[in-house]
Amino acid sequence: LYGGTTELFSQIMAPLGIESIFIDLGDLDKVEAVMASNAAIRMVYMETPANPTMACVDIAALAALAKQHGAYSAIDNTFCTPYLQQPFRFGVDFVVHSTTKFLNGHGNSIAGIVIGRDQELMATRVAKTLKLTGATCNAWDAWLINNGLKTLELRMIRHSRNAMEIARFLAQHPRVGRVNYNGLPSHPHHELAKRQMRDFGGMLSFEVKGGLEAAVGFIKKLQFCTMAPTLGDVDTLVLHPASMSHVNIPSEVRQQYGITDGLVRVSVGIENAADIIADLEQALA
Ligand SMILES: *Cc1c(COP(=O)(O)O)cnc(C)c1O
Repeated sequence: LYGGTTELFSQIMAPLGIESIFIDLGDLDKVEAVMASNAAIRMVYMETPANPTMACVDIAALAALAKQHGAYSAIDNTFCTPYLQQPFRFGVDFVVHSTTKFLNGHGNSIAGIVIGRDQELMATRVAKTLKLTGATCNAWDAWLINNGLKTLELRMIRHSRNAMEIARFLAQHPRVGRVNYNGLPSHPHHELAKRQMRDFGGMLSFEVKGGLEAAVGFIKKLQFCTMAPTLGDVDTLVLHPASMSHVNIPSEVRQQYGITDGLVRVSVGIENAADIIADLEQALA
């Protein structure tokens, strides 16, 4: 899960008496067992593809399991946007997005959205909770997001096309190890991604051979791509998970989930792919 989500669950919800059970949602038998032995579970919360390994979980199967056990299901669809993945089609009850990322697309506003199937519930309890907790968007940010939305489809098509080209470039580079991109048939969740996504999006990560030093050295050499912790921008943004987004996660846990010291995450922009590749190539060299 997105780091802020984990913090919200463990630091804000837990003291309010809303407990979370963190399990691997890729293991459906385990999910079934946990649901069956905890009648108090009210919601299954998922994120797919996950940052930064692009691991996917089966939305339809998880939504069905939740329903079977009388719980809601909710998904963070930030990486995909509704252009690439429409979770309501797979039976999910709530979809959340950070609009800060691909939906706005220009890295100039911060906001989020929650969309629900049950309009009555949305208009009453959810709307009231949003208002009372201050989770409402100001007019200027809303205007910027609305501007960005007008080019969403164009951008997502280009993000996906560029990312595929860059993933293929990286996969054949001698200084690169594993490449995590759902569009590559080598990705363990390629088939699942194909089933639930229209295309594979702009997010990928890859292993620079040589570990921490090599990865950080590579990022420092970039001239065209920008090092930044955000994503989903028209510009290509690069981040080093081990020292930035996932720095607070113990090293052993990080390794277990494939977030190694040499891993670099790229939010591929909509520039000319040749410009992005030229920069990656000179930095790797
Ligand atoms: C960035 C992000 C968020 C949080 O969004 P903000 O708008 O930055 O608060 C939530 N989920 C995912 C997957 C994200 O990438």
